[in-house]
Amino acid sequence: MPSSPHDPYVRVRGAREHNLRGVDVDIPRDVLVAFTGVSGSGKSSLAFGTIYAEAQRRYFESVAPYARRLIHQVGAPRVGEISGLPPAVSLEQRRSVPTSRSSVGTVTTLSNSLRMLFSRAGDYPPGAGRLDSDAFSPNTAAGACPECHGLGRVHRTSEALLVPEPELSIREGAIAAWPGAWQGKNLRDVLDALGHDVDRPWRELPQEDRDWILFTDEQPVVTVHPVRDAGRIQRPYQGTYMSARRYVMKTFAESKSQTLRTRAEQFLESAACAVCGGSRLRPEALAVTFAGHTVAELAALPLTALARLLRAADGDETARVLTCDLLARIEVVTELGLGYLSLDRATPTLSAGELQRLRLATQLRSGLFGVVYVLDEPSAGLHPADTEALLTVLDRLKAAGNSVFVVEHHLDVVRHADWLVDVGPQAGEHGGQVLHSGPVDGLAQVSGSATGRFLFGREPAPVRQVRAPRAWLKAGPVTRHNLRGVTSEFPLGAFTAVTGVSGSGKSTLVGEITEELDGVDRLVRVDQKPIGRTPRSNLATYTGLFDVVRKVFAATDTAKERGYGAGRFSFNVAGGRCETCQGEGSVSVELLFLPSTYTPCPDCAGARYNPETLEVTYHGRTIAEVLDLTVEAAAEFFAGTPSVARSLRTLLDVGLGYLRLGQPATELSGGEAQRIKLAGELQRVRRGHTVYLLDEPTTGLHPADTEVLMRQLQDLVDEGHSVVVVEHDMAVVAAADWVIDLGPGGGDLGGNIVAAGPPAEVARAADSRTAPYLARALA
Ligand code: ADP
Ligand code: ADP
Ligand code: ZN
Ligand code: ZN
Repeated sequence: MPSSPHDPYVRVRGAREHNLRGVDVDIPRDVLVAFTGVSGSGKSSLAFGTIYAEAQRRYFESVAPYARRLIHQVGAPRVGEISGLPPAVSLEQRRSVPTSRSSVGTVTTLSNSLRMLFSRAGDYPPGAGRLDSDAFSPNTAAGACPECHGLGRVHRTSEALLVPEPELSIREGAIAAWPGAWQGKNLRDVLDALGHDVDRPWRELPQEDRDWILFTDEQPVVTVHPVRDAGRIQRPYQGTYMSARRYVMKTFAESKSQTLRTRAEQFLESAACAVCGGSRLRPEALAVTFAGHTVAELAALPLTALARLLRAADGDETARVLTCDLLARIEVVTELGLGYLSLDRATPTLSAGELQRLRLATQLRSGLFGVVYVLDEPSAGLHPADTEALLTVLDRLKAAGNSVFVVEHHLDVVRHADWLVDVGPQAGEHGGQVLHSGPVDGLAQVSGSATGRFLFGREPAPVRQVRAPRAWLKAGPVTRHNLRGVTSEFPLGAFTAVTGVSGSGKSTLVGEITEELDGVDRLVRVDQKPIGRTPRSNLATYTGLFDVVRKVFAATDTAKERGYGAGRFSFNVAGGRCETCQGEGSVSVELLFLPSTYTPCPDCAGARYNPETLEVTYHGRTIAEVLDLTVEAAAEFFAGTPSVARSLRTLLDVGLGYLRLGQPATELSGGEAQRIKLAGELQRVRRGHTVYLLDEPTTGLHPADTEVLMRQLQDLVDEGHSVVVVEHDMAVVAAADWVIDLGPGGGDLGGNIVAAGPPAEVARAADSRTAPYLARALA
C-alpha cells in the first residue's frame, strides 16, 4: 500500500478491535469526516479504539520509550497497519473526569488571560506595586486568600455549637464537642489542674475563661493528679490541653475515621469566608480593578455580559491588545452556545456536552495544525439553532490545516461532512463492517445502511393523534439557577418534551418534578450515568438476570453432586471465582501519566472462575461461556427457561441484543447504560402511575436506535404512565403530546416558558427559537 508522506489518506488495514471484522478503509486527511452507524456498530471502535489509540501509542513510544513495555501490556489496537496517520487529539466525552478545582476559566485558559489583563492593565490603589498574574488566581499560593486557602468557604465553630447546653458544668459534659471516654476526662482534669472550675454551670464562668477554654491555640502542659475514679487510683501524669475548636478542626481535617470526622462536622458550620467574601482571593488582588470591577466580579459574570463589558472598556494600548485577545476567545465559546456560563463555574456542574464544547473552543485558539481531532458527538446537548455555529467551528479547525473526525448521529452534521464512513449494518457481531467510505451522497447507492434510510428518502411523519391529558401535574413556583418563580404544568398520561437552547433551564425545571407532587405514585429517572464503575458490575448483575442464571447452574446434576450452591457461581465472593483477579477477569495496570487501565487476568485469562467451577456445564456451556454470550444468543440458549427469557426479551426490545451478558459496566456508553436501566424498568411489574424522566435520551443514539427507544416510551404512555423528556431531537419532540419550550436564550436570557402546548401549536409560537425547527420536523 502507498505510504508516501504526500499520500493524502489515512489508510487502515485489517482493523479487528472489538467487533471490527478486518476493516480496510481509506480516509482523507484535512477534511471533516463523519463516522456513522447504529449504536454498537463499531464507529467508536474504529475512530477511537483504532485510529486514535494507534496515534496515542505512537506518540508515547516517541516521547517515552520506557513506557513501551507497559503500553504493550495494555495492548496496542488490533490492527494490521495504519499509514498516513497524523498525531491525534481526542475530545471524547466518556473519559473526561474534571477535578473539583477546575472551572470554565481553567478549562478554557480564559482565566489566565483575564489575570494577565489585571496584572498588566488593572487599576491599582495608589502606592501599590504591580502584581504578578499568579496573584489573581485562587489556585496559587500567591493569590489564594490566606484565611480559606482559596476555597472561598470556611468551616468555623462557635460557642453555641460547642456548648449546646450551657446550664451544664464541664464535669457534666457541657463541652459536647470533646471526645468521649478517657480523652475527654483527661481534658477535664487538665482544666481542673490549670485552675478552672469544672463544677460550675458553664454559663456562670467568666466570658474570658470560656473563650480560652474553647478557642485557645495554646497547648499548655500540666501535671495532673487524677482524682479517685470508680475506685481506681491513678498515678500523676503530664497532660496537654487542646481547645475544643482545635480538637474539632484537627479531627475534621485529619482524622482517618469517617465516624470521627462526621461527628466533628456537627460542631462546625460552613460559611462564606469573611476575609475574601467568598471570592477566594487575597485582599491585595481584590484591590485591583478593571473597568471598575474586581477580577472575582468579572469571573462571576456570564461570558456574554463579560464580553459586553470588555468591549465598552477603554484603556491604553496594552489594555486594548489584551482585551481584544480575550474577546476573540470568548466569542468562540459564546458561538458554541455557551455564553451563559461564567468563568468561575465549577466543571463538575457542567454536562459532558458542555465540557466537550468548551474544550473544542479552546482548541480553536491553540494554533495546532496537521493533527487529527477525534470528537465524540460534538452536537450532544446542542439545540438545533446552535448546530450551525458548531459546523462553523469544525470548519475553522479544518481550515487551520487539521483533520476533523467526528462520531455523529445528528443528520445536519453528517450532511455537512466532506466524507462519510458508515459502519454497520447492525450492532455487535452483526456490525463491524464499513458499508461506505466516500462523499456523503454516495451512501444513497448503498443498500442495507440504517444511516442511508434516514439521510435519504424519508417519508413524511405519519399524522398522529395527540393524546388528551388525564390530569395535570403542577410543579413550582421554581426559583433556582436562572428560573425565577416559574410555575409549570405537565400533563399526566401523556408524553411531554421540554425544549430550549442549552442553558435555558430545562434540567432545572425538570428537576422540580418529585415524588411529593400530587398525582405521582412513583418517579423514575432514567439517566445516562454508568451502571457501575468497575468491571465487577455488568449487564447481567445489574438487571438481576445473573441471580437466575446462577440458580440454573446450581440445579445441574454435577453441581448437586459436588454440593455447589448458587454462590459458587458468583464471581464476587470467594469459592468459585479465580482468586488471582478476585473474579474481575482483569487486573488493573497503573500507567504514569495515563488513567489506569485493565488487562486480562494472567491466570483465568478473563474467565473469572477457577477450573473446578468451570467443570460444571449447563447444556454444554460453562458459566463463563454463558457470560460471554450476547443477549441475542442467550435468548436462544435460554428459550426454554422462562425466568431468564423474560429479562432477555426486554433487553432485546430496547435494542441491546448485541451486548454480552458479562459486558463490564466500564465498557458501556451512556446511551447503553440508559437503555439497560430502561429495560430494568420495563420488566418490573408496574402498579400505580409512574412518571418517567429522561434527560436527553437520544444522546449517542442513531436515528434508528431513537425509533426503537421511542416505541418503548410511547408504549409506557399507552399503558397510562407519563413520560417527560428533555430533548433537542426534533423528531422526538414532534412525536410528543405536549411541548414546554424554555428560553428564549440561555442563562440570564432564559428561564421563562416561551410556549407550551401540543407540538403543532408550539411550532407556530412567535418568540420561540425551537419553533422553526419543530415546524420543519412536523412538515
Ligand atoms: P458504536 O461506537 O458504534 O456505538 P462501539 O465501537 O462502541 O460501537 O462498539 C462496537 C462493539 O464492540 C459493541 O458490540 C460493543 O459492545 C463492543 N465493545 C465496545 N467497547 C468494548 C470493549 N472495551 N471491550 C470489548 N468490547 C467492546
Ligand atoms: P438546560 O438544561 O436548559 O441546559 P440548565 O437547567 O442546566 O439548562 O441551566 C440553567 C441555568 O442554570 C444556566 O444558566 C446554568 O449555567 C445554570 N446552572 C445549571 N446548573 C448549575 C449549577 N449546578 N450551579 C450553578 N448554575 C447552574
Ligand atoms: Zn477567603
Ligand atoms: Zn483471574
